[in-house]
Amino acid sequence: MRDIHVSEISDTVKNMCIDVNYELSEDMKRALTDAQEKEESELGKQIFSKLQENLKIAKEDQIPICQDTGMAVFFVEVGQEVHFVGGDITAAINEGVKNGYTEGYLRKSVVGDPLIRKNTGDNTPAVIHYSIVPGDKVKITCAPKGFGSENMSRVFMLKPADGEEGVKNAVVQAVKDAGPNACPPMVIGVGIGGTFEKCALLAKAALLRPVGESSEIEYVADMEKEILTRINETGIGPAGLGGKITALAVNINTYPTHIAGLPVAVNICCHVNRHITRIL
Ligand code: SF4
Repeated sequence: MRDIHVSEISDTVKNMCIDVNYELSEDMKRALTDAQEKEESELGKQIFSKLQENLKIAKEDQIPICQDTGMAVFFVEVGQEVHFVGGDITAAINEGVKNGYTEGYLRKSVVGDPLIRKNTGDNTPAVIHYSIVPGDKVKITCAPKGFGSENMSRVFMLKPADGEEGVKNAVVQAVKDAGPNACPPMVIGVGIGGTFEKCALLAKAALLRPVGESSEIEYVADMEKEILTRINETGIGPAGLGGKITALAVNINTYPTHIAGLPVAVNICCHVNRHITRIL
């Protein structure tokens, strides 16, 4: 067994929360630059220049890319040979979130009860998805999620007979319904299969795949391409002001499902598709 002190987790999480909110990952930066070159509408081009300027200022001045610094979502892969010492792993992650959002001057966007709605004041609790994997490492991915786009996400419990066409239509419809509210250009995470909650998790995890990488499953990669084309044909465009680029990517994850169902989740992310990974 390998001992990992939970203070190492807290410190890592704190820095991840700050870093991920100040600078986008290389794949997202590249995708925005490529999209800027492809955009044909004048207004759309101007929006892309503003987005680039915003990214530059955020990096140079070490300030958040967007005022909505999101609810902190984590995917934590824990090696089965790891033994956490010094406290509770979930409390350690939340301690890191609290310190990161406070020291990094990141907006505190979490209410402690969904209906009473009193702000917790430190952006905790985080939403944490754990999985146990072979090995003696801990892989932490932090993906803060803004709610402009989260609010436009959907789950469709399709019938098996709806097939591929039904899935494509559902994803395109979700994006059309989102329109400008999801702060386009968007990245679209799609989960197909599993159960009601599993497909939502697949869709969330799909947003972590680097933009520009296709699914390894050939027919799924074809669907990603076709759906992206159909989304960009809607003309919603950057900031919803019209143009050729409404989405930068469609990433689909699949999982086995029940003979009687075809669950599909669409997790929409805005152009501030933040994700960062550290391995301890
Ligand atoms: S959806 Fe994204 S870009 Fe829009 S306000 Fe939220 S975090 Fe910012």
